[in-house]
Amino acid sequence: MLIIKQIEQLGSVQACPVLLDETLAAQEHWQSNEQGVVILDSGILLASPAAWAQQLQSICNLHVLVAERYPSVEWGSAEIAIVRKFLADADAVRRDRIAQAQSTGDTQTMARQALLDIVVDAHRMRATDIHLRMTGSEARISYRIDGLLYHQASRSRTSVTEAVAAALNTQSDDFREVFDERHMSGASISLTLPDSGENIRIRTQKSPCRDGFSVTMRLQASEQQRVPDLYSLGFAPSRVLQLRHVMSQATGLLLISGPTGHGKTTTLAALNRLVPKSRKIISLEDPIEIIQPNIEQKFVPTDQDPYAFAHMIRSVLREDPDLVEVSEIRDMHTANAGISAALTGHLVVSTIHANDAIGIISRLLDLGLTATQLSQPGLFAGLLAQRLLPKLCVNCSKPVNHPQWGAVKEQSSSGCATCQLTGLQGRVAISELIVPNSHASKWIQDLNIVHWQESLRRNGWDSMAFNASELICQGVVDPRHAEELVPGMNELGLQQRQQKKVNYAAQLESV
Ligand SMILES: [Zn+2]
Repeated sequence: MLIIKQIEQLGSVQACPVLLDETLAAQEHWQSNEQGVVILDSGILLASPAAWAQQLQSICNLHVLVAERYPSVEWGSAEIAIVRKFLADADAVRRDRIAQAQSTGDTQTMARQALLDIVVDAHRMRATDIHLRMTGSEARISYRIDGLLYHQASRSRTSVTEAVAAALNTQSDDFREVFDERHMSGASISLTLPDSGENIRIRTQKSPCRDGFSVTMRLQASEQQRVPDLYSLGFAPSRVLQLRHVMSQATGLLLISGPTGHGKTTTLAALNRLVPKSRKIISLEDPIEIIQPNIEQKFVPTDQDPYAFAHMIRSVLREDPDLVEVSEIRDMHTANAGISAALTGHLVVSTIHANDAIGIISRLLDLGLTATQLSQPGLFAGLLAQRLLPKLCVNCSKPVNHPQWGAVKEQSSSGCATCQLTGLQGRVAISELIVPNSHASKWIQDLNIVHWQESLRRNGWDSMAFNASELICQGVVDPRHAEELVPGMNELGLQQRQQKKVNYAAQLESV
């Protein structure tokens, strides 16, 4: 156990604001004023000696909450004065914030403040999404950080629902109904962070589940709204070169696949930076996620008209674009409209749900397109698949000798101050790209995907698994994360891993 003699020993740590209510409730009825406990935001459960002696059960109950939130929990003992100081500071910060909101004449209610507190906390922990899972009378709050879900706290369902309702009713730019948790659909909320003044846009989406429903809130800080470039997303220089070539094509369809939350939309925006200013880009989106000042972005309301995308594609072709972007191909009509645009002198770029690059063809067939349609020569400018893999914290990742990968690095289970105890720091993109040629058209026509895949492998194709294996060997990603997230990791033979990467020109020829 940590013995804290002086408050300076703990550095600049504070009481965890999210668990403050639970901490105060736990000690509400303690008899002696020598007893006190506080949870610090580094995962330390700090209690006075009297509390450790007489309230061990309550402290153990709190331990469960801390363990759900932090990867490791440390027990500490400090004089009651130190414990009380942390509690008083945290309480004062909270009161200040509420008082400030009221004194400025702001109509900020407690409910909205509650949502803001959650968002501030999630943003501080670098979360990209907040997941609220409503079951019974409880709301379980989790954050997605570096692609992984961490449980944070449980609150009362009523208070969380009120918080979401208040925000939607007063701070949403596209929510136009009376809030009803059973019928809530997608909407956006804009919030300003009190400390930094930073603007955060939150996209909410509700979905039902077995014993209730969940609300996913995707956070977009203003810094993320700046259009990124492919290098900073982690794309290898050779891949950027290939994509530059694809984006310079005058016609054809480039499709980007990957699971939700793996950066497809961001890549789509980053690809626009490869397009010369002399070409006109029209982007059709639902919703508009990243503001791109240099291109024409049009919002397509699909909730009113299921064929909205297909109609819009046909209609914007009359506005003489060189490049048409569609945020996602979800149905046959959109796919058909995209294909006709691609075959009539336009480059069309879109995203689609598929497991890997070759899977895009199967997905299009599933949507109802025919092999004859898909095998038209020159239809596909490229088939891209991507994943975002959590990057190991450079400060605390541990060297291991892995049976398959040799000397590589692994995520530290306790983390460090640099990575906020997660052991991870951001994510890196891995990708695979197929530029189909005339052989590919034949294989699609004959529905001979297996043969196609074999041919790619024989030619030393730079697949997502291959990309991931390089990052594992460089100690950038944990092999366990790659095995979990990247298709084909297990089939990737040793021989192929050792094979030298084929150069760019050879790759374009060999597909
Ligand atoms: Zn670390």
